[in-house]
Amino acid sequence: MTAVAVALAARRALWLYRLAMAGQPAPERVAYAKDNAGAELKAQLVEVFGQRKLLKWTASGTAHFFVMWAFFILLTVYIEAYGALIQGGITGTPDFHIPLIGTWAVLGFLQDFIAAAALLGLVAFAVIRAKNSPKTLGRDSRFSGSHLGGAWLVLIMIFNVIWTMFLYRGAAINTGAFPYEGGAFVSEATAALLRPLGAGANQALEHVGLLLHIGVMLIFLVIVLNSKHLHIFTAPLNVLFSRRPDGNGAAQPMRSAGKLLDFEEADPDTDVFGRGKIEDTTWKGFLDFYTCTECGRCQSQCPAWNTDKPLSPKMLILDQRDHAFKIAPYLMASESERENLPEDVLALAGKPLVGEDGVIHPDVLWSCTNCGACVEQCPVDIEHIDHILDMRRYQVMIESSFPSEAGVMLKNLENKGNPWGMSEMKRAEWIEELDFEVPMVEDKMPEDAEYLFWVGCAGALEDRAKKTTKAVAELLHIAGVKFAVLGPMEACTGDPARRLGMEFVFSMLAQQNIETLNDAGVKKIVATCPHCFNTLANEYPQLGGQYEVVHHTQLLAHLVEEGKLTPITPIDEKITYHDPCFLGRHNKVYAQPRDIMAKVPGVRTQEMHRCKDRGFCCGAGGARMWMEERIGKRINTERVDEALTTDPDRVSTACPFCLVMLGDAISEKKNAGEAKESLEVVDVAQLLIRSIKGEPAPTP
Ligand code: SF4
Ligand code: SF4
Repeated sequence: MTAVAVALAARRALWLYRLAMAGQPAPERVAYAKDNAGAELKAQLVEVFGQRKLLKWTASGTAHFFVMWAFFILLTVYIEAYGALIQGGITGTPDFHIPLIGTWAVLGFLQDFIAAAALLGLVAFAVIRAKNSPKTLGRDSRFSGSHLGGAWLVLIMIFNVIWTMFLYRGAAINTGAFPYEGGAFVSEATAALLRPLGAGANQALEHVGLLLHIGVMLIFLVIVLNSKHLHIFTAPLNVLFSRRPDGNGAAQPMRSAGKLLDFEEADPDTDVFGRGKIEDTTWKGFLDFYTCTECGRCQSQCPAWNTDKPLSPKMLILDQRDHAFKIAPYLMASESERENLPEDVLALAGKPLVGEDGVIHPDVLWSCTNCGACVEQCPVDIEHIDHILDMRRYQVMIESSFPSEAGVMLKNLENKGNPWGMSEMKRAEWIEELDFEVPMVEDKMPEDAEYLFWVGCAGALEDRAKKTTKAVAELLHIAGVKFAVLGPMEACTGDPARRLGMEFVFSMLAQQNIETLNDAGVKKIVATCPHCFNTLANEYPQLGGQYEVVHHTQLLAHLVEEGKLTPITPIDEKITYHDPCFLGRHNKVYAQPRDIMAKVPGVRTQEMHRCKDRGFCCGAGGARMWMEERIGKRINTERVDEALTTDPDRVSTACPFCLVMLGDAISEKKNAGEAKESLEVVDVAQLLIRSIKGEPAPTP
């Protein structure tokens, strides 16, 4: 039986390997893992063995922690079981023990403890699943869309592993074949229950229990390799080959056959442009498919899913996985073999990956705000945004199929270097509203300037965001920080183009900016827009632009800490802070904006329920700022509804796009009489300058 189960498991493992290899190569993943062995080892210890992400969800995380460790520790019980089986077969006395440690009471205790804890874990899982059943909660259940039958089967199989273990060990104590003299407290309790049955019955139960224990494990092994519990084996690999610190931050450059795509030479007929078919996915993408546990944590945090849009990051992964499995014979066949495949497989293989009748509906693809909540929450490091961006790239660059409104933004970026199509000369107009000089880079950075202040398109051209720009400039001026701006020489970083999938326009803008920055000799940059910040800090290095980049909240918090900025005038207001996704989740800047507010006298802060790494998006990221939101509730309205539950005097944030999105939703609420007239959304820099200068509260 062992040989059959192992053969079936090996055949399935080989099938999965061949299927993944039918995808695109990803040499950069292997190279990174090799070059960062220390970081990868730490990730294995923290993510896999320490279950860091799972433990953020206390009840289910703790349950999973014990069940996962049971898999490791109970391997020793299986060594004992096989040893007893073989030794019993040879000598007639199955009193095998593991050499050196096999009679140690601590090991006996550990085995029983972890099995009992796993049993409690199973009860917790069952309760969690029952309480969160999609049958009662519908879309609100994180298990909505998951394969529920398989999950219950696995819980039952783990239960079978545990009760058969205690049966065989309890009986073994009574027959004298048990290796431990103490410590195995549950086995001893079971032995006490079985003892009255007599020696013969205990001997029979020991044999039956042993065979059942091994048999259950072998059946379970085959089930695991054919179910979502495949993650038991693939999760450590997926963590090993994932991006560090995670799949947020930089969008990845485009690759074809594992090589970076050079747009000067790339040929859409021979090169892979994003993902147009499932086989354009890299083997790492396939590993993501195999590793999804269907836990639905990503889905529960997704702003699109939570506002009744069709996108679920979980289903995005599962739909691709199911499609890949269905057409696996096609993917693994040679050209000549494909002709002989069944009609249904060939028909499915021809199904578009994205399309009205495709595997992924366009409304799913275009609903994503790139907020990173899915990536942040996924306990097995699945990189949803990479999947989404690759599909968008194909749709935009090959199919020219994307929401038409975004086309205007793309044209404006190409022609004017900003999404609104305004003249570049307008980029410096905000400076005229200040009562001090702001040096502008001509060819080179002024010698005494420490920072280049990257103003960003919104910061230079959008009225509400301009207030932040002026506040930051004033604060730097007060603190004595020397800075300069590029003015008309600054162009959009390319973030909206890249997040839409138009890598070509991103590349064009990025190269232009990098040339400007490098020619000017820029070393340090401060940016107010988290999207610019993310692109400059994390994505420009991909194209040779290496700078020390800080967000304005980081620099201002530092200046306050150093005593170079001293907020004095009390602001007697209750303020709730909204974490911008590209500042928080994508770049882990959570503390500094809060530190600044904490230093302003009189400010009373209250967190929204969804904050910090679980912060809820404003709806603008992923180029959604330039698309209509036609499906479900507006994301910015959902966020403002949440902000209103804290009854704030003001909502603060640290991103020009959040400022606009939340501001729009607040205006609608005011018009509907659902928010007080004085409520406004402001950047934390505006709060700080107000306290430092003793200015009155801004009027809406
Ligand atoms: S990035 Fe945000 S919007 Fe996109 S799928 Fe993930 S959670 Fe949903
Ligand atoms: S993608 Fe990750 S978070 Fe989402 S269901 Fe799968 S394992 Fe869970």
